[in-house]
Amino acid sequence: MKRTLIIFGVILSLTFNISATTWFPAQHKCPVCKKKNIYQEIGSYGSYIYSWPSKYQYIYWPLTDLPSVYSCINCHFSSYLWDFDNIPKNKIDTLKKFLTQTKLDKKYKDYLDIPMTRRLEIAESVYKILGRDTQFWCEFYRVIGYHYDQVKDSIKAKEARLKAIDLARFILLDSMYIGQEKENLYIIAAMNNFTGHKDSALIYLDKASSLTYSNLKWEKKDVDNHDEYLTDLIKQYKEFISKKDEE
Ligand SMILES: [Zn+2]
Repeated sequence: MKRTLIIFGVILSLTFNISATTWFPAQHKCPVCKKKNIYQEIGSYGSYIYSWPSKYQYIYWPLTDLPSVYSCINCHFSSYLWDFDNIPKNKIDTLKKFLTQTKLDKKYKDYLDIPMTRRLEIAESVYKILGRDTQFWCEFYRVIGYHYDQVKDSIKAKEARLKAIDLARFILLDSMYIGQEKENLYIIAAMNNFTGHKDSALIYLDKASSLTYSNLKWEKKDVDNHDEYLTDLIKQYKEFISKKDEE
């Protein structure tokens, strides 16, 4: 799903020769309470999103952008935009039960006015009910860390990033993710850097740079491109940390 969106976005941006991301409004129905409301859908973007600074936290637009987490203004069901219309029917009752205990500080008309961190907190519980793999959770906590940082809540940002480190370590030990060590060491380095441990970050970057990425589920061309991207990213990260040292 994500991959299709990315390819589609690249084509769009080439067609219109733009270098910005855009959203457009569209109606969606809440999978839990059926309330219809206006949400923002992805318009256009390009591969330039992979060079934006959030790469140093290994997360990318649209996850860095406020419209990307949908939230029902009626029952508060919240999820990433690409999951909103695809909730399994057999989870609805459990979700309903959970959402009756979910309160917001006031009534909202537009989901974008609900603080992003609040939407993510609800989505965290939603995804615990839906069930997701370790890689999902590792990214999810990097995303939460990013958005807490945006609202200057450094304690919660740190808490989320430490969770992301634990999960990335867990992935390193999991045979399901064999070959992806380069990526996970990069994530551990990134989260160390963003929790005030840049010396550890540099050690993990060194470890990562000696490896080659592999993934049996991907085509060779995609694996090679990703390995090249990671190699370049590791190099940039080392410069990014030493530049900050000079400041
Ligand atoms: Zn709802």
